[in-house]
Amino acid sequence: MADAPPPLTPLDESWERALCVVAHPDDLEFGAAAAVARWTGQGKSIVYCMVTSGEAGIDGMDPDECRRVREEEQRRSAEVVGVDTVEFLGEPDGVLEYGVGLRAAITAVVRRHRPEIVITGNFRDTWGGANLNQADHIATGRAVVDAVRDAGNRWIFRDQVEGGGLEPWGGVRQVWAFGSPLSGHGVDTTDTFDAGVASLEAHRAYIDGLGWEHFDGREFLEGHARQAGQRMGVAFAAAFEVFPMGWGD
Ligand SMILES: [Zn+2]
Repeated sequence: MADAPPPLTPLDESWERALCVVAHPDDLEFGAAAAVARWTGQGKSIVYCMVTSGEAGIDGMDPDECRRVREEEQRRSAEVVGVDTVEFLGEPDGVLEYGVGLRAAITAVVRRHRPEIVITGNFRDTWGGANLNQADHIATGRAVVDAVRDAGNRWIFRDQVEGGGLEPWGGVRQVWAFGSPLSGHGVDTTDTFDAGVASLEAHRAYIDGLGWEHFDGREFLEGHARQAGQRMGVAFAAAFEVFPMGWGD
């Protein structure tokens, strides 16, 4: 018998404001929405920022129409877990490039919302095993970690500070990446699991457009949540890789 995976350390929940930055509408719903529902239920404030609008995500739908449909689905999906601010950066879906431009755009969002925790998706090369990650996810996650540091330095993207109406913000303590194969932390999502499922199901046009036969959102989420739950001694949990952003952590 294989060794049981190591226990997950509970995430720090002593914060008030988080910002989620992901590449596509639906990314958060495939791994973090139930956790978001838990935190908004505790009175925390969470903002969503989508780097693209996922406009290249539905084979049978033109990107202009798709952008509109997917932004609307994302707003509904956010509402279900208690998030009322959803921003779209309008970067190009599928061909996102890591670089200074992307870092600047995310830095501005961090400076505007001044979060203590920033949440993004897995940006490792794989999901564990042989399944390769997608290029937009990797570009986004790397840019998020860099933008969090950039945001605190007034001399980086200084036009945002000098005349741009923003202040530097160095208050992000940690970046959390859900779905990472190197996740060592977790949070109990047993009580908010159903909200997470409903949040995924709000992406109806997208899920139908995938053409995956017999895709069942609940079943998919349950598999992952149960595995993470076992590592915390609870029914369901969400797992995250934690990147400390402060000095001396
Ligand atoms: Zn994605």
